[in-house]
Amino acid sequence: MRRISIFGATGSIGQSTIDLIARDPESYHVVALSGGRNVAQLAEDARKLNAEIAVTAEVALLPELREQLAGSGVEAAAGEAALIEAARRPADWVMSAIVGAAGLPPGLAALEQGATLALANKESMVCAGPLVMQTARAHGGAVLPVDSEHSAVFQALIGEDIAAVERVIITASGGAFRDWPLEKLAGATPEEAATHPNWAMGQRITIDSASMFNKALEVIETKEFFDIDPALIEVLVHPESMIHALVGFRDGALMAHVGPPDMRHAIGFALHYPERKTLPVARLDLVKLGQFTFRAACETRWPALRLAREVMATGGLAGAVFNAAKERALDAFIARRIGFLRMAEVVEETLNRVSAQSGLITAGITLDNVRAADHFARVTADEIITQD
Ligand code: NAD
Ligand code: MG
Repeated sequence: MRRISIFGATGSIGQSTIDLIARDPESYHVVALSGGRNVAQLAEDARKLNAEIAVTAEVALLPELREQLAGSGVEAAAGEAALIEAARRPADWVMSAIVGAAGLPPGLAALEQGATLALANKESMVCAGPLVMQTARAHGGAVLPVDSEHSAVFQALIGEDIAAVERVIITASGGAFRDWPLEKLAGATPEEAATHPNWAMGQRITIDSASMFNKALEVIETKEFFDIDPALIEVLVHPESMIHALVGFRDGALMAHVGPPDMRHAIGFALHYPERKTLPVARLDLVKLGQFTFRAACETRWPALRLAREVMATGGLAGAVFNAAKERALDAFIARRIGFLRMAEVVEETLNRVSAQSGLITAGITLDNVRAADHFARVTADEIITQD
């Protein structure tokens, strides 16, 4: 039996992971499940999967979680230290599906105990890619991408020589506003931004899809995951969301990964790797689909893409600053404190101000330095937002 843990179990990716595990309960022993405010869901899944421990990020909700788990034999715990303790429990395969920079510490703790880390939490790679990869190497573990584009690139690279790669194209649906006139974007509401044309995902990543901050994070994630020169990474808008990424080789071949927009493919691939097992995803009827279309990704419409290039050129802890500023700008947009277009401006201004503080961005990529850069970026972004 494989021992598995799922961090962010109550979210969109977490629930899809549980869907796969629950189809074959005999094969898995569930060590830990974690969630946030939705303790009822967390307790229900922990009971169903007979987990060792359930952890909520919210300390105030521990009594409620305890009550919901009474008599089940599942341990209850709360808070960041408990999350890390749970991630240190030996497991063979750990899903990292918390949203935001909060996903980094438990992911690192899982790698430190030698687990294979299935990484949906792209923020870990953006904030601390080199640290994540080095931790995996040092403890004999592995990191497998779960983000659909990165799973696609990973699959296209199996058996290939990375030196033969000429370009990597990751696709974007274009999000909720891809067809909106530019002048309407300033007035876009959080509700409008949180409706995705093709994928059902958590609220934050869905809004990040509309602003392309999600793709900006993914461009950085591509560089970190595959150690690819940023100049070789391209973004294309592909409204159908059927081709997730393409890898171009020096002989002119372009290998595309095609599949329906269902995260259970990438999750299942990471769960069974290096085997391929049957997965409950729809099979494409290409004749019915008829055609795939592509458009250039315009950096005027989506300035987040330009910012991602600047972050990669700066290197060091710029990714941690970028992500933290983006998280605060997104919070402010959801709270209706700033408009949709202001998010990118807040992030750019934060990057400029933090870069001017000598030493912060160039400090080594350790967890402490990531936390410091993240904290400083949040305070700076909040100052900029408050001045509005
Ligand atoms: P979600 O909002 O649906 O779920 C997030 C999970 O994290 C929940 O379990 C929530 O309780 C938990 N959480 C939130 N804040 C936390 C905190 N501070 N501390 C601990 N736990 C916390 O998000 P999602 O859509 O499942 O996305 C999860 C991650 O996977 C994100 O990094 C996202 O970018 C990435 N991802 C998601 C998809 C998708 O289709 N949903 C696709 C690719 C990548
Ligand atoms: Mg993605």
